[in-house]
Amino acid sequence: MASSPVRPLRAIAIFCGSNVGEGDAYTTAAAALGTAMARRGIAIVYGGTHKGLMGNLADAALAGGGQVHGVITRRLHDKGHLHPSLSKSEVVDGMRARKERMLDLADACIALPGGIGTAEEFMEAWTLNQLGDVDKPVGLLNVDGYYDSFMGFIDTMIERKFLPAAHRDGISLDPDADALIDKLAVFEKPTVAKWM
Ligand code: AMP
Repeated sequence: MASSPVRPLRAIAIFCGSNVGEGDAYTTAAAALGTAMARRGIAIVYGGTHKGLMGNLADAALAGGGQVHGVITRRLHDKGHLHPSLSKSEVVDGMRARKERMLDLADACIALPGGIGTAEEFMEAWTLNQLGDVDKPVGLLNVDGYYDSFMGFIDTMIERKFLPAAHRDGISLDPDADALIDKLAVFEKPTVAKWM
C-alpha cells in the first residue's frame, strides 16, 4: 500500500482552556505540546493570552525557542489578557474575526481540554473541513480521556444517521502531543459524502 503524503505543518492553531482545569494533567499536557512544537519548529497560533492552559502552552513554547503568534480580541486585550512576551501578536475586532484569522495562519488545528470557547472553535474548524471550505486537519489532544464522552456524542450522531461513520476519522485523536502532530501530518480527509 502507498504511504500517505506528508503535509507541511509550519503552524498549528491551538484551542484550549482559559482555565487550567483540575489537577496537574492538563497544565502538564499543555506545556508538553508547547515544548514539542518548539522542538519541531512548528509555530503556535493561539488566543494570545497568559490565562489558563493558553499561558502554559505559550510559556513552554517560548522557553523552548518556539514561535508563538497570538491573535487576541480588542476587548480581551483592553482587559489586560495579552501575554507579555509573544513572538508576534495582533489585535482583531471580535471572536469571529479571530477564528478566521487563526485558521488563515495555520496548516492544522489542535484542541486541548477546555470549555465552551475551545469546543466552539474546534467544531467550527471541523465543520469547515467537512464542508470542504478548508483543508486543515483537526485533532484532539485527549488528555486523561477528556474527550472520550465527546467522541461518544459523535458516535450518537453516527448511530442516529446525522453523520456518516467515515467522518469520525475527520478528527485525529491522541493523548500524546508528538503522536497527534504525526497523525495530522499524514491526515487524509474522508472521501465519503456528508449527506446520506
Ligand atoms: P474556554 O474553553 O471557554 O476557556 O475558551 C478558550 C478559548 O476561547 C480559547 O481557545 C481562546 O481562543 C478563547 N478565549 C477565551 N477566553 C480568553 C481569554 N481570556 N483570552 C484569550 N482568548 C480567550
